[in-house]
Amino acid sequence: MGKKDQEQLWAEEFQRLKKEISEIGIFRNGSISKRWQTCGNSRCRCKRAKEYRHGPYYWWTTKEKTKTRAILVPSEMLDEAYVYIENSRLLRKKMKILAKLADKIVQNRVKKYREKSKKH
Ligand SMILES: [Zn+2]
Repeated sequence: MGKKDQEQLWAEEFQRLKKEISEIGIFRNGSISKRWQTCGNSRCRCKRAKEYRHGPYYWWTTKEKTKTRAILVPSEMLDEAYVYIENSRLLRKKMKILAKLADKIVQNRVKKYREKSKKH
């Protein structure tokens, strides 16, 4: 067996990466911020001073094109939420690499076809 050519190596890397991506769990991007807030009750002391504000509340915001969406995360769910954010980061990172690899492979194939057609 001869040495594997570059395209084969890229193709193998592509398959490996694709498998890694398939193993990434539930994901959601964005970030979580901790906030203390005032409520709707006009007689509540939270309106008087910052230290009386309610909270902390954990707001998980994501950007969707032009809109920003926020959901309130129960504090018991925080650890889980951070896993989803990390999964999202990982997925985007790996997808970027996968796209670059695919591009290399396609460009290499275009080159091969061109070289082949020159011979005729
Ligand atoms: Zn209040």
